[in-house]
Amino acid sequence: MLNDLKQQPADALLALIKLHNSDPRADKIDLGVGVYRTGQGDTPVFGAIKAAEAKLVAEQDSKAYLGPEGDMGFVEALMPYIFGKQDPAMGGRIEGMQTPGGTGSLRLALAMVKRAGYNRVIVGKPSWPNHNQICADLGLEVFEFNHAAADGSTDMDALRGALGQAQAGDAILLHGCCHNPTGIDYTNAEWDEIAGLILDSKVLPILDLAYQGLGQGMEEDAYGVRRVLAAVPEALVCYSCDKNFGLYRDRVGALYAMVADPADLTRVMSNGHALARANWSQPPDHGAAAVRLVLADEALTAQWLDEVAEMCERMRQVRATLAAAGKTGGVDLTPIGSQNGMFSIIPFTPEQVQEMRSKHGVYFAASGRIAVAGLTAANIDKFIAAVADVTA
Ligand code: PMP
Repeated sequence: MLNDLKQQPADALLALIKLHNSDPRADKIDLGVGVYRTGQGDTPVFGAIKAAEAKLVAEQDSKAYLGPEGDMGFVEALMPYIFGKQDPAMGGRIEGMQTPGGTGSLRLALAMVKRAGYNRVIVGKPSWPNHNQICADLGLEVFEFNHAAADGSTDMDALRGALGQAQAGDAILLHGCCHNPTGIDYTNAEWDEIAGLILDSKVLPILDLAYQGLGQGMEEDAYGVRRVLAAVPEALVCYSCDKNFGLYRDRVGALYAMVADPADLTRVMSNGHALARANWSQPPDHGAAAVRLVLADEALTAQWLDEVAEMCERMRQVRATLAAAGKTGGVDLTPIGSQNGMFSIIPFTPEQVQEMRSKHGVYFAASGRIAVAGLTAANIDKFIAAVADVTA
């Protein structure tokens, strides 16, 4: 029986890491991995997290089970950053639970959606591949619309069209900020329109906020989520702390549900708890506990916000340098300057992607997605010259 299982394709990005590792050239460049890197090419543990971890080791007096909802101190401490300081729980309409990363949050959100009777999820194309994979695994149909227009802005007509054709039983999954893989985000004016379109079409919004603070800033990056939530009766928000607290492998995330009537919240969330129980029982504690300690301490919070702002600023500088190169060979790098977050797509042909690897030792996904934080003062000129060479 087990022998009947079919071979699954290897994860393309993991295969890319292997390729990069086996390249002996000292000046090779890795733009594949989706982690932040400093100007020195490192992915360090945040100072605020290190301090919180030290506190945790000194003060934590038990590792007994917490329950499927995880560390509720962590879940609640994040809420003012996501939903705004004014009324983070929106009059008792929002409650959250801890999940293993943003992926765990998406898995739970989509499983809840399925349980609630939804059968189709509207997703922009391209998207983070796991969106479609999780939907497929849960038996949810995916209805795709084109995310980015030819001019490098969002394809609002495609989104309007998709929502215009929405049916009862549809949900829509949108990136809150720092779109992965395109870097192309909705403007505030577009979010204003989207909020109205979602309300009119009655689809359930699922908002994926995996990079808050890494686009334009903590508050700016929450605009879309807050705007949609202010307009609609119900929504799910999937949050990841893995990038903006640098906790990747510790798997730190949260799922929030907003309902129309606070009286329904406990019943709705009991489904999230039951699904967590059936999936992983309880989320891993360590990273979320460290985040809770950071957010409970004014000085550590300030330190964390500085560290996020520094990451954001560095990626904006890399983007500005690429944009300043303008037309480079056969591609225009200018739009990268106004895109957001950790990724952008350069429209390379498959042959050009290969040539970037073989001739120049520059590694990135076959889609042309580059992780902008892989570029530093030491390698960005070489990268731009390589782009000019292969696209000329
Ligand atoms: N959503 C998007 C759009 C992402 O790009 C990612 C991670 N790359 C996630 C969610 C999940 O992040 P994690 O599970 O690592 O917290």
